Amino acid sequence: MSATRRDFKAITLDLDDTLWPSGPSLAAAEDRLHAWLEEHAPAVAAALPPPEFMLLRRALAAELPLIAHDFTALRHAALSRAFTLHGASLALVDAALEVFLAARSAVQLYPDVPAALERLSGRYRLVALSNGNADIERAGVGRYFRTLVNARSAGFAKPDSRIFHAACAGVGVLPGEALHVGDDPDFDVRGAARAGMGAVWINRPRAAWSGESEAYHEFHDLLGLCEWLEV
Ligand SMILES: [Mg+2]
Repeated sequence: MSATRRDFKAITLDLDDTLWPSGPSLAAAEDRLHAWLEEHAPAVAAALPPPEFMLLRRALAAELPLIAHDFTALRHAALSRAFTLHGASLALVDAALEVFLAARSAVQLYPDVPAALERLSGRYRLVALSNGNADIERAGVGRYFRTLVNARSAGFAKPDSRIFHAACAGVGVLPGEALHVGDDPDFDVRGAARAGMGAVWINRPRAAWSGESEAYHEFHDLLGLCEWLEV
């Protein structure tokens, strides 16, 4: 660890599958978008049910590497491509994207999260640090965070060190003064360690750690982290 637990000034927190399960809200958002398309752009809905729309996004990610890390831009590009191909008005693309984004941020927090964020935010500067496009205000946790850094705003996705460094800079701390907390062994734990930060693995499913060993601390929920930090 680059600092003892008492030395940390900031904590960067992953969102999806750390503060809430991402699967249900992402699936619901795909369904909501599809239902909206059935009503407003039926030719697009008929041609591109969610599985086909995902394939289109993947194809565009390969075609447009400069926006491949930015899931919002990628979805906008995919909608634009689909609307053009199937004769729907491009004027509707922004509204379609908004339907998805609103549903995607309608998340169900894990039960430990509100109390843990309350405790952590009392002592540390908290930064939301995500590769995804969830909105912390819509998710109901915005008041706990100083700022949100995501792959879209940083221009890089985890595990790239640059997004971790952007998050630290966002609250005026050095990487060695910050602790990153997340569920993904590669994107969160190894990425943060390589960026020179403390790294905590939130292992809710109690999975086995795999790969090479690195310095990290493991907890099964955020209250375990609070106990360790004595907040
Ligand atoms: Mg995650």
